[in-house]
Amino acid sequence: MNPLASTADLLDLQELDLRIDQLLDERASLPELESYRSTHASLAEATTRQDALTEQLQMANRELDKTEGEAQILRAKLESVQVQMYSGGASAKEVQHLGMEVDQIKGQIATIEDAELEVMERIEELEPELEAVTSRAAELTEEKDRLEAIIKEAWKGIDAELARKEARKAEEVKGIDPVVLDPYEKLRESKGGRAVGPLEDGNVCGSCHVAMSTAEAHALRKEGLPRCPHCGRLIAL
Ligand SMILES: [Zn+2]
Repeated sequence: MNPLASTADLLDLQELDLRIDQLLDERASLPELESYRSTHASLAEATTRQDALTEQLQMANRELDKTEGEAQILRAKLESVQVQMYSGGASAKEVQHLGMEVDQIKGQIATIEDAELEVMERIEELEPELEAVTSRAAELTEEKDRLEAIIKEAWKGIDAELARKEARKAEEVKGIDPVVLDPYEKLRESKGGRAVGPLEDGNVCGSCHVAMSTAEAHALRKEGLPRCPHCGRLIAL
C-alpha cells in the first residue's frame, strides 16, 4: 500500500473520529444528567429520613401501647381496692391502709399519664414530619423517573448514531496502512483529537495554519510520513 495515499484517507477517518468524540461528549454531558444526579441524591436523603422517622414513630407507638396497658392495669387495680374499701366489711384500720394504697396507685397512674402525654406529643410531632418527607420522596421519585426517561431517549438516538459511525470506522480502518494509522491514533490522543490536516495553499498546515518555508514544504513531499514541522501533526497529501 502506498502510505502517501493513506495519509489522504486519514482526513475522512478523522472526520468520523471527531464526530464519534462529539457524540460521546454529548452522551456524557446531557444537561439532564446533572439534575438526575442531584435528584437521586435528594431522594436518597429523603428516604433515609423517612426510614428514621418511621422507626421513631413505631417506637413511640409501641411505647404508647405499653403505657396505655400499664395505666389500664393500674386503673383496674384502683377500682378493686376502692370496691374493697367501700364494701363495708373492712375495719377502720383496713380502710386506712386501703386508702394509702389508693393514693399510691393514683400517684402511679398520674406518672404513667404524664409519660403517655409526652409520647402522644412526640407522635403528634413525628406524624406530620413523616407525611411531609413521604410526599417529598414521592415527588422526587416522579422527577427522577421523568429525567431517566429523557436521558434514555436521548441516549437511544446518540447510541444508534454511534453504532453507525463505529461500523463505518471499522470499514475505513481496514483500508489504511498501520504505518500511517498508528501514528495517527497516537497523535489524536496527544493533540486533542486532531492528528492530521490538509496542506493549504501549497505550504500552510491545515491544522495549525502556520506557513512552512519553501524548503520545509519541499522536504514534506519527500517524507514517507509527512508531518508539519510546527505542530507535529500529519499532513494529508
Ligand atoms: Zn501544523
